[in-house]
Amino acid sequence: MDLFPAPAIPRLTVLNSDDTIPVNRVFCVGRNYWAHAAEMNGEVERDAPFYFTKSHHAVVGGGEIPFPPGTENYHHEFELSFVLGTGGKDIDADDAISHIWGWCAGLDMTRRDLQNYAKEKRLPWDTSKDIPAGAVLGPVTPAADWTLGTQRMHLSVNGEIRQDAHVNELIWSVPEIIAHLSRLYTLTPGDVVMTGTPAGVGPVGPGDVLEGEIDGLAPIKTTIGAPT
Ligand code: MN
Repeated sequence: MDLFPAPAIPRLTVLNSDDTIPVNRVFCVGRNYWAHAAEMNGEVERDAPFYFTKSHHAVVGGGEIPFPPGTENYHHEFELSFVLGTGGKDIDADDAISHIWGWCAGLDMTRRDLQNYAKEKRLPWDTSKDIPAGAVLGPVTPAADWTLGTQRMHLSVNGEIRQDAHVNELIWSVPEIIAHLSRLYTLTPGDVVMTGTPAGVGPVGPGDVLEGEIDGLAPIKTTIGAPT
């Protein structure tokens, strides 16, 4: 028998439904918009996409999220996100979209000071990215009700727009990401992908209100709570 209670599996809500989606893994694509890569002083070669992951403690649906310990530069990254309904390996890009159950707006919250240090020292990004309540994933819109196109995405902080872009500006397209990732992992239903952030990332602090919207998807609203 289990010696300790099994950890709870986080669930995504579904827009206008009581259904929920148990989350398996959360894959995040790094440096996937040219202008964001430039603002991070990153060199982008269209060689292969790269990923980092967030674990279950990171996943929340919105509302108040705590300001985490260990950072003085906590950043928002607003991202088109999706969840798979069918998995598989070696998925063809031509067929990749059909594996998506639905789409949502997401926030990849980042301890930027720790990430900058990690980059400088060639260390991993875990502590800068895998943060309690650091993967905000809004209500999921079924793929049947939303088709990826050229939709606008924008994030405001306290009513001022900070990030403003379009979902077709991704360096690595959604089909390319699924095809590539499925050659590294056998993907499963409930796997979530956060596709990367456009330019305009910046710091937030306690009391700040973040509102993100991708045309046609449910908006997300998050308030940064007190430090923990
Ligand atoms: Mn990101």
